[in-house]
Amino acid sequence: MVSVSHVLIVGQGLGGTLLGWQLEQAGIPFKVVQSYPRRTASLVSAGMVDPISGQRFALAHRAVDTISLARRWYEVLEAELNMPLISDYPIWRLFRHIQDYEYYQKKKGVLSAYIEQELTDVRPYLSSKYGGIVVNGFQINVSPIIRYFESKWTQSSTLIRGHCHRRDIRIHGQGIEWNGVEADLCIDCGGFESEKGYFDWLPYRLSRGDVLIGESDRLLPERVVNNGYWFRPMGAHSFQFGASYAWDSLTRIEAGHVHLLQDALTALWPYPYRIVRIDSGVRQMVADAKPVIGRHPDVASMGIMGGVGSKGTQWYPYLVNEWMNAIRYGLQPPDDCNVARFKGSKPFYNPQGIRP
Ligand SMILES: Cc1cc2nc3c(=O)[nH]c(=O)nc-3n(C[C@H](O)[C@H](O)[C@H](O)COP(=O)(O)OP(=O)(O)OC[C@H]3O[C@@H](n4cnc5c(N)ncnc54)[C@H](O)[C@@H]3O)c2cc1C
Repeated sequence: MVSVSHVLIVGQGLGGTLLGWQLEQAGIPFKVVQSYPRRTASLVSAGMVDPISGQRFALAHRAVDTISLARRWYEVLEAELNMPLISDYPIWRLFRHIQDYEYYQKKKGVLSAYIEQELTDVRPYLSSKYGGIVVNGFQINVSPIIRYFESKWTQSSTLIRGHCHRRDIRIHGQGIEWNGVEADLCIDCGGFESEKGYFDWLPYRLSRGDVLIGESDRLLPERVVNNGYWFRPMGAHSFQFGASYAWDSLTRIEAGHVHLLQDALTALWPYPYRIVRIDSGVRQMVADAKPVIGRHPDVASMGIMGGVGSKGTQWYPYLVNEWMNAIRYGLQPPDDCNVARFKGSKPFYNPQGIRP
């Protein structure tokens, strides 16, 4: 049973792209609107899928449900796009100080399925004093996925290039209308910009992340290293390093941030390197650090998918799957991800006099 016959997706980051891909597979008509120049966090993302979350070595929320599904989906995409997307560099998580080691000791049992090895010697990196662990994760090259579908959907006129002013989305009895596009359902996949629309009442926590793209004449090791920052080789001599978190300014890169990043990089990679450029993007998270999906509690033709923080690569296959179940069979998303859990946290956005 298909309960929705036409969908409008706002935003073609990783979330909007995977959702469009699945709608396409299911034969459900859709349009995607994407503004230019792009402000797409997914295009600066390191694409890491890491079962360990945060500084205290917690197992990522729903790691069991999300990681193996993500792996399968990106394998299918690799085959469909006929290009390598997955990289299996081992992830070395270094203990920066004795507290890291202690946190790990406390969580070791829960994490055991995801730890390949414990390390006592982590040279040539500094911080070797406390050792580290090798984590069972992987990395996804996200931008070719977005670029592939951008090109495909441009050719099929599925992608609309332009800005969708959310206040111009008109709600009517059968669904929504925007710019001549009629749909039963509009799903806001606009990343941090979703806070401007029908979901402005969510308790957002937005942060800017900066990453250094650099080169070193020295051959880079075939592994990702995490010492609070990611050091990710992108070939034999290029690397990505970051990300910093800035909560105060989402647009301006302060010189102080770049210096801090460079200091951290030098501590990890004590060899000569050059910075080629600095990339920035804004991560969208909500107060409980869990994703948000589902229909607006009072405006059912508006939906959202986001709030993935630094784990969208891992979360989106699972979240899109849940959205597809909602679209095809009318199922409710799981409570821990359902946007309705925040109902009542702020007054609802009400541009057209819709009564909550
Ligand atoms: C520096 C950095 C490093 C990161 N590293 C990782 C990592 O290693 N692993 C990981 O899983 N995640 C990482 N992330 C998090 C990453 O942002 C998310 O995982 C995910 O890719 C976000 O995807 P999204 O589709 O929700 O948002 P976005 O990628 O931001 O896409 C939203 C899109 O919507 C468009 N849009 C918004 N509003 C409108 C509108 N009104 N009209 C038209 N278009 C609109 C935007 O232009 C944008 O293209 C990182 C983020 C940053 C900033």
